[in-house]
Amino acid sequence: MYSRKTFEEIEQRETEVWACTNQDCNGWMRQDFSFVDTPACPLCHNSMEKEARMLPVVENLTHRMVST
Ligand SMILES: [Zn+2]
Repeated sequence: MYSRKTFEEIEQRETEVWACTNQDCNGWMRQDFSFVDTPACPLCHNSMEKEARMLPVVENLTHRMVST
């Protein structure tokens, strides 16, 4: 008998993110983690555009990351 668990399902949700407009850069951040209306890319400081991505749902992590 195999009792090995399959991978736990990771819930994904369409999430608003800021994506870097520089095509050579893959910088992006969750909108929840940005503090300004139009953030600059943390990697290359280019402007960023809003887009929706399917991302794993994070719980409780938001507050922790904001406070550090
Ligand atoms: Zn960038």
